Amino acid sequence: MDNSPNTNGIALTLDVDWAPDFMIDFAARILSEHRVRSTWFITHDSPALRRLRAQPDLFELGIHPNFFPGSTHGDSPGAVLRHCLDLVPEAGSLRTHGLLQSTALLGQIMSETGITTDASLFLPHANDVRPLDYQWEKKSILRVPHFWEDDFEMERAAPCWSLPPLLGEHSGLRVFDFHPVHIYLNSSTTHAYRQLKQKAVKLSEVSEDQAAAIAETGTGTQTLFREAVNYLSETGDSLRMCDINDLWRQGHFRTEKRV
Ligand SMILES: [Zn+2]
Repeated sequence: MDNSPNTNGIALTLDVDWAPDFMIDFAARILSEHRVRSTWFITHDSPALRRLRAQPDLFELGIHPNFFPGSTHGDSPGAVLRHCLDLVPEAGSLRTHGLLQSTALLGQIMSETGITTDASLFLPHANDVRPLDYQWEKKSILRVPHFWEDDFEMERAAPCWSLPPLLGEHSGLRVFDFHPVHIYLNSSTTHAYRQLKQKAVKLSEVSEDQAAAIAETGTGTQTLFREAVNYLSETGDSLRMCDINDLWRQGHFRTEKRV
């Protein structure tokens, strides 16, 4: 029997980014119909948040704090964190909006919150990704990098909207970062998203008819998302941030002995 620690795994994560409820529900329905686990980084309160919370076996809720100037979450890092943790008091994980980060900010997150997993590191198309134990003033937080993100893929010279090459060319932990708006629009470029932003002042105020009218056909974010969900529903291997943290503590994802 092979007792060596597992170094592979796949995780689906979603940054809510103020998407309207019909977009959140759309992505959540695909996941729950296939019983595939995922982690959602929450930006705001809405009925869809309560529907996600009703399925804790499938959906881990983390926070998606906006630390940029002018943030609706608050006017200081401490205020932003308090606001987001009021929304999701049970959060054990976080990804910062826009992936904004600094040593001081991570230190504050570690000293002022109970967050144990940070998912704000992006290593595009990196191979052999593993979690990292980040220690600061005798505290530690597990940093779990993602190797793929929908809006970055759109900006690549040759975007890949097919699962086999993404899985086949990579080993290690493969964390995908999707946005409900891009899943709904099946975005393969930023074109539809920009059109939508022109139609409404705020993304949260976009109507379902407006969005459905400009959703893209062909391969894109939604077709890749469905491919990943189908694959994970067959293998049963989808990991949430809390699962990755548990596996790490059990000794998985550690450096392999190479011969
Ligand atoms: Zn974001």
